[in-house]
Amino acid sequence: MGDLSKKIFSVMHYVANKVQQPAVILLYHRVTTLQQDPQDLSVTPEHFSSHLAHLATDYNMLDAERFLYHVKNKKAFPERSVFVTFDDGYADNYLEALPLLTKHQVPALFYITTSKINTAYELWWDDLERVLLTPGNLPPVLQITINGQPAQYTTDTLAAIRETYYALQQVLRFCKPAEIELAMQQLYEWSGKTATGRPSHRLMTWEEVKAMGDASYAAIGCHTHRHPAVGMLSYEEQYTEIGMSKEILEGVLGTPQVHFSYPFGGRKFLGTKRYYNADSIKACKALGLQMVCANYHGQVHSWSNPYALPRILVRNWPPDVFRKQMQQFFKY
Ligand SMILES: [Zn+2]
Repeated sequence: MGDLSKKIFSVMHYVANKVQQPAVILLYHRVTTLQQDPQDLSVTPEHFSSHLAHLATDYNMLDAERFLYHVKNKKAFPERSVFVTFDDGYADNYLEALPLLTKHQVPALFYITTSKINTAYELWWDDLERVLLTPGNLPPVLQITINGQPAQYTTDTLAAIRETYYALQQVLRFCKPAEIELAMQQLYEWSGKTATGRPSHRLMTWEEVKAMGDASYAAIGCHTHRHPAVGMLSYEEQYTEIGMSKEILEGVLGTPQVHFSYPFGGRKFLGTKRYYNADSIKACKALGLQMVCANYHGQVHSWSNPYALPRILVRNWPPDVFRKQMQQFFKY
């Protein structure tokens, strides 16, 4: 953002927040301790517990039903309203996050990706990390065909392998699910590694998703079946991807699903590449979803679009950093 647009943005925020108290949606992915976390998406249980202690004391924590009520009816939020969400559906959400949410009596909404549940497989970006960044000898060069385009990457040093990991991560996030699978097959063959995932990166089982759905401080939402950037799919493909996760979750939980979050979900784009678009919103509406979260920095007001709500991505912040970040969102 340029200096002038930054200024305009901050003035707009100032005015909006003067008119009405904002609410904030926090976005977490994992609560656990990992050996490496190249996407920086994991928060340690110690830090998460300190976040919750602070939120429970200083903020007005809303649950999914309450937040939806304000969004759907365009009602102003109570002062200092905060809503906690989790994307993807990792097992640690149930094993490590839920006990802490219960202890601090903070409710959260968990968006679930359905395709890898009760399988031995990891989500593709974890799989990519497992193949490239965990111990094992790799050939010095990777030749791979993605979307019919042959490409070559250097993998002869640790630094080169890391660079290759980040480059492929960028390319694959804008590919269709079948194309990602083809790329992973080539990577398994090239590396000599199998498709079997690590216990540390597994998703919740269906039993765990059900237990989560029954828990007092948890609610469930959809996050597509195979986690593609829906903005790269046709309207029909989007409808199917989003609709499949909704249908599967409704079958397992026996309750209508009205919550959804876009995979990746950023508003930024690369050329023609999009994480979500107007068709995504149309598909969500057609499927009867009522509240949809994106992943761009911002606060929520009663007039915010319920089909692309901003969220604040929480990193593994120590208590003092988390406290300062929270102050920032409510400083106006
Ligand atoms: Zn996700």
